[in-house]
Parts: sequence; structure tokens; C-alpha cells
Amino acid sequence: MSKRDRRQKASDVFRESEFVFVQKVSFEEAFPEIEDLTVEVEESGDGVSEWNRKRTYRKQYFPGEYIDCSNPLCYNGGFSIGSILREMVRNRQTELETSKLCQGNEGSPKGRRIYRKCMNFFKIKVSIKYREASEKEK
Ligand SMILES: [Zn+2]
Repeated sequence: MSKRDRRQKASDVFRESEFVFVQKVSFEEAFPEIEDLTVEVEESGDGVSEWNRKRTYRKQYFPGEYIDCSNPLCYNGGFSIGSILREMVRNRQTELETSKLCQGNEGSPKGRRIYRKCMNFFKIKVSIKYREASEKEK
């Protein structure tokens, strides 16, 4: 598949979006209360292989607002890890296990034509360590 045919993923669409409803900021700015975190993602569906089936993300090199799906035909695929984290931080939750269906659709490369909903599925395990300082602020 040539680069031009590659479907944009959720993080690409978000990066290119002109309306900024969630500020595109660094992890540190977005989540100052998080000292460290681990996000384990297990994906099933199209484009998933032995190499990318399980991914682990840490605070360093965090992918950002979205984690992308692996289905090569899927446009705007992935899920918002940002919204999961915001919800957890609001409740000062340290552990969460949840699952998400890919938000994207299989379609033409620019997403203009949609053939069917992407069925890729994510099992997500999040573990957050909060900063002591914000613990005292409560
Ligand atoms: Zn997808």
C-alpha cells in the first residue's frame, strides 16, 4: 500500500483538525497531576499481528489524545485515550480496565465514502500514579 493510500488515523485527523476543542498540549500540561502512568492496549481485529497486538504506553513518548487502530482500511480509526484519562483524573482513579470499539470506518482513503464501521476492538488497562503535591491540594 503506497503512502498516499494510507488511511488517516484518529491521531492524524485530530492533528489536522482546525477547530481546537481540546487544546493540543503536551502531556505535562494536559495532566499535571499525573506523575507516571502505564496504558496497556490489546487490540483485536484487522491488521493486528503478533507484533502490534499488545502495546504498552508510558508517560514518556505518550501517543497523545488518540491511540490509533491497526486496520489498514480504517479511516479516523482509534479511540480517545485522552477522554479516558480525563475521566480517571477527575475521579482520582488509579486503576481502570475498560474496552473500546474503534471509532473509525472502513472507506475510501480520504474518508469520503464509508463502506462499513471498523470492527477493531481494544482492551485497555490504565494505571496512574498521581503526584504527591496534588494529593495535598485536596
Ligand atoms: Zn479502526
